[in-house]
Amino acid sequence: MVRNGKQYVDSLKDNRRIYINGEIVEDVTTHPAFKGIIQSFANLYDLAADPSNDMIYTTEDGTQANKVFMIPRSREDLAIRRKAITKWAEATCGFAGRSPDHVAGFLAGFSSYPEVFGEYQQNVHDFYKYARDEDLFVTYVIIPPQVDRSKAAHEQEEKYLPVGVLEEREDGIVVRGSQMLGTSAAVSNYLFVSCITPLRPGDEDYAISFVLPLDTPGLKLYPRPSYAMGKEAVYDYPLSTQFDESDSLMVFDDVFIPWKHVFVNKNIEATRDQFHKTPAHVLGNNQAQIRLCTKIKFIIGVARKITEMGGTDKFPQVQERLGELASLAATVEGMLLASEYECTLDKNGTARPSARFLFGIVGMQDQVYANVIKILRELVGGGVLQMPSSYHEMVNPETRDDIRQYIRASGVDSEARIKLYRLAWDIIGSEFAGRHQQYEMFYNGAPFVVRGHAFRNYGYNEPLELVERFLSSYSLPDKDAHVQS
Ligand SMILES: Cc1cc2nc3c(=O)[nH]c(=O)nc-3n(C[C@H](O)[C@H](O)[C@H](O)COP(=O)(O)OP(=O)(O)OC[C@H]3O[C@@H](n4cnc5c(N)ncnc54)[C@H](O)[C@@H]3O)c2cc1C
Repeated sequence: MVRNGKQYVDSLKDNRRIYINGEIVEDVTTHPAFKGIIQSFANLYDLAADPSNDMIYTTEDGTQANKVFMIPRSREDLAIRRKAITKWAEATCGFAGRSPDHVAGFLAGFSSYPEVFGEYQQNVHDFYKYARDEDLFVTYVIIPPQVDRSKAAHEQEEKYLPVGVLEEREDGIVVRGSQMLGTSAAVSNYLFVSCITPLRPGDEDYAISFVLPLDTPGLKLYPRPSYAMGKEAVYDYPLSTQFDESDSLMVFDDVFIPWKHVFVNKNIEATRDQFHKTPAHVLGNNQAQIRLCTKIKFIIGVARKITEMGGTDKFPQVQERLGELASLAATVEGMLLASEYECTLDKNGTARPSARFLFGIVGMQDQVYANVIKILRELVGGGVLQMPSSYHEMVNPETRDDIRQYIRASGVDSEARIKLYRLAWDIIGSEFAGRHQQYEMFYNGAPFVVRGHAFRNYGYNEPLELVERFLSSYSLPDKDAHVQS
């Protein structure tokens, strides 16, 4: 089944416990912090459900599902998956990092390589198929909360700061603690919980992996401040109002997880292997790069339009800056396509995007995105702050003539100019924009972690062989010949 937007919205009307601004959210679908992003995600579901968008496929079990859940079996499948993910990314201009396709890729990766889950592998298969066939929105929290990063999980000052197993029962486990940072969790159906940071001996109680519905008793969400709330018009903040996914600290107040939802229980090796031996991490990151590629294209479009509007695109210096943006965008897209082209089939027949190219670009992402934003900042100048405080000044009879007269470009009226510059501000300067810089820098781990992935996955045989071959092509000059000369 492929859900439509209404079915998605209806599925969120439950007993989830979200605390924001001192209150509990009664209905997430109508709350001002969440209704904008819920509408945007509902649009994605409508898009996928419309057969003309070609996002539906027949699964290996004969069911109909969204292609974002596909286990790719060939390079062609990866391309099919990329086109479906791109459709969704375009609908959010690449600004929804945790749309439902992200964790769908992880679940597909887990199910395609079940052996790492040992005795729990049937649970993994069953949940993947359930999520796929019910078209569920699953998000994840896989990072322990920041308390003391120099200490292992079991060395923290209290036992249940990171989420861990409190009790094992005949029918399941009870977990306590917390985990960061559930992007879109508040507006999703299920949460996948685990730990991707390295665990050490003694951390067994935290070496877990499970799923749970968002309205499970004892699960509490503490989102950061909303960037959509208090913003009256989409026109003023087009991204903040529509794409603020929210990020939540998740608290597990003695939450019961039935065995059928447990994937790993107190097993450090399986906790690690589920991410790195299975294709989950590469499929999830492949989705993230497809989204990033769309986002950067969108930002470049904004830069091009702004320079055209202001007439600065005629300056060679500005063309040079636009050229740098073009190089950055083409690098991201090229690496994405190279990772697809150079994919390999694993022993279970899953097509894995090449880790060399995938993590090669992931390892540069913090710099690429920061550069893109820096160049856009440079190109817009102070124009983004020459805008009125809100659309009210544009419609108020007392002020509107001043705005029309002084905020415009040649051949472009104030409405079009302000609209574009407001969008630019939401990309570079609003709180939403700042959060996106943090997101692109950290969503996949701190920069030193992602560059570690690039280091481990490059494959140094080829460059080392090149060097060895060259070094062996010459040697120390003949000593006697030297003396004679
Ligand atoms: C906007 C946003 C959304 C996110 N969404 C999600 C989500 O949906 N799900 C999820 O699970 N997580 C999410 N995260 C969390 C993300 O995965 C983490 O931010 C990331 O893994 C880095 O962990 P940290 O933030 O605790 O930083 P830390 O690990 O504490 O690192 C912060 C800095 O400290 C230094 N440092 C820390 N440890 C070391 C070390 N061992 N050696 C050297 N230097 C070190 C580095 O300078 C590093 O950059 C999100 C994060 C952000 C910012």
